[in-house]
Amino acid sequence: MQKGQINVTTENLFPIIKKFLYSEHDIFLRELISNAVDATLKLKTLSSVGDFKGELGDLTIRVSVDKKKGTLTVSDRGVGMTAEEIDKYINQIALSSAEEFLEKYKKDANAIIGHFGLGFYSSFMVSKKVEIVTKSYKEDAKAVRWSCDGTPEFSLEETEKTERGTDIILHIDKDSKEFLEEDRIEQILKKYCRYLPIPIAFGKKKEWKDGKEVETGEDNIINDTNPLWTRKPADLKDEDYKKFYHDLYPGLEDPLFWIHLNVDYPFTLTGILYFPKIKNQFEIQKNKIQLYCNQVFVTDSVEGIVPEFLTLLHGVLDSPDIPLNVSRSYLQGDPNVRKISGHITKKVADRLQEIFKNDRKEFEKKWDDLKLFIEYGMMTDDKFYERAEKFALLKNTEGQYFTFEEYRNLIKENQTDKHKTLIYLYATNKEEQYVFIDKARAKGYDVLLMDGQLDVHFLNHLETKFKESRFVRVDSDVVERLIEKEDLSESKLTEDQKEDLKEVFLQAIHDRDKFMVVFEHLGSDLPLQITQSEFMRRMKDMSELSGEAGMFGTLPESYNLVVDTNHPLVGKVIEEMKKKTDARLSKIMEKMAPLKKTKEELETANKEKKEEEIPQADKDRIAELDKKIEELEKKRKEILDSYAEKSKLVRQLIDLALLSNNMLRGEKLNTFVKRSIDLL
Ligand code: ADP
Ligand code: MG
Repeated sequence: MQKGQINVTTENLFPIIKKFLYSEHDIFLRELISNAVDATLKLKTLSSVGDFKGELGDLTIRVSVDKKKGTLTVSDRGVGMTAEEIDKYINQIALSSAEEFLEKYKKDANAIIGHFGLGFYSSFMVSKKVEIVTKSYKEDAKAVRWSCDGTPEFSLEETEKTERGTDIILHIDKDSKEFLEEDRIEQILKKYCRYLPIPIAFGKKKEWKDGKEVETGEDNIINDTNPLWTRKPADLKDEDYKKFYHDLYPGLEDPLFWIHLNVDYPFTLTGILYFPKIKNQFEIQKNKIQLYCNQVFVTDSVEGIVPEFLTLLHGVLDSPDIPLNVSRSYLQGDPNVRKISGHITKKVADRLQEIFKNDRKEFEKKWDDLKLFIEYGMMTDDKFYERAEKFALLKNTEGQYFTFEEYRNLIKENQTDKHKTLIYLYATNKEEQYVFIDKARAKGYDVLLMDGQLDVHFLNHLETKFKESRFVRVDSDVVERLIEKEDLSESKLTEDQKEDLKEVFLQAIHDRDKFMVVFEHLGSDLPLQITQSEFMRRMKDMSELSGEAGMFGTLPESYNLVVDTNHPLVGKVIEEMKKKTDARLSKIMEKMAPLKKTKEELETANKEKKEEEIPQADKDRIAELDKKIEELEKKRKEILDSYAEKSKLVRQLIDLALLSNNMLRGEKLNTFVKRSIDLL
């Protein structure tokens, strides 16, 4: 028997392995099984090139637990190892320096294991002793047993073993007893080994017989050695893809469609990416893509590894060029991984372009579900934007779809304003904004429907991309002003009339803080309209979407009440108002006029003076005048307010404007209905 020291520079490696690899203990099984798979694949290669002439036989890798003995064993029928190979591959652990090792990778088990080839040694995370019993495929090779109990000392001796291959026997530590539980092992196997290319048996299949669960003679194979992504797309049917999807993600709806990736230059990458069907914002789930390296599961947190927007997709990616054993931060910085990521973007774009070209009808049908991904991609990845520009669609309120270019051509003629800006009109809700959509369409404008989860963000992005263009929501102004072509004529009302009307309408709307009254001389078919400025609304939308109650989170709603002074009904209000209030108002105005005049005179006289030079007498006089004016002003408002409250015409007009904007609800709506019936 040979005794020796495992060649590590650090005094004792094992306490370190135990301590620092704590959080991800279960990967030891992945490491052992991928070694077994490697050894088996190596033998298959040797056999296929004629360097191994014996029988391959059954290559199944077997995992078993013996609770009594407290062991977990992984057995393969691969190449095995000679004593020299054990010495070379197992005893010589190339650890450059213990300190460096500790400093750098304290928190990251994967990093330690990958960087220092600790794959096999990770078994010491859960074992007090590990044995290797192995026999090489080489002719006349002697079977050997290597054994190590967690100190740097090991033993190596000849042993009896009839079969070629390797058994790794773990004597499970007392604080790792969970790894002697069949359920736990099966769960780990399912996580990491589900798609490994060599069959892996964990005990025997069980069945129910006479009310008892009994073992059958059949191996319990836990993996699919030939997963869908490794097969030729030409051999696969839609059903196969759907079935695989549901195997991966039980309980989800059918995917929209999928992309089968098969790249062999400049790197190897296979995989299937699915576009999931997402019904609402809350269903969006990131990090559903599983990353494999030669069918070994690596991770399902792919952020930073695949392009950001693809993290919304589902599916698998498999590349031997994605290093198996390294940390996520390492993966993210790896230039290879970055190249792969860029390439996936290109492939996805190509495939979408292809579907668009070959079957536009089908593409349009899926667009509403699809656009979330594409818009997200276009917003977060300029390269993708450049590609997607050709197939991304815009949908109008009539349900027609256009490419960016087609749409530009459609509206160019009619929707360019006097500043040569192309105005894209949009609605976010066809029902609620119906009145405005209808008016815009009647004017020959086209209106886009932007009702997707990301649309509002997306149109902001498009504005930065489209030249001399602006997006304007259809209810952000009266239709005459949405796209300004020539100057509109001015309102013909006097300032006093405007002031009075303003008071009357604000009083009738009952929510005066939210509204600004604006006078326009339009001659449109609506006397009053409620609009919300594009800028204000976007600020609010953005703050709501980002979910932060930041500086805009507390922005009050603010609307414009646009009064068309050229509308006959507004004319009627002016007349009625005059009739009901003029007698009283003119008395007040008569009193007010001289007061205002005196005040003005005093102010002009003191205009050039500094505050302290103004005679106290003048100051007192002005204050006194202000008080009187204010009192009269109050009386004036009272007269107008009481008119507003009593005038069915005014109330009806205001309610109709609110109603067109879906703002008339509850009690107000009830009052409106009753009043309407009275009026009829
Ligand atoms: P890696 O797999 O990254 O090389 P490991 O620590 O997992 O590092 O394994 C070290 C080496 O030990 C392997 O490269 C291989 O040569 C040998 N080895 C481990 N397990 C087996 C096995 N089951 N059969 C044959 N050789 C093995
Ligand atoms: Mg390994």
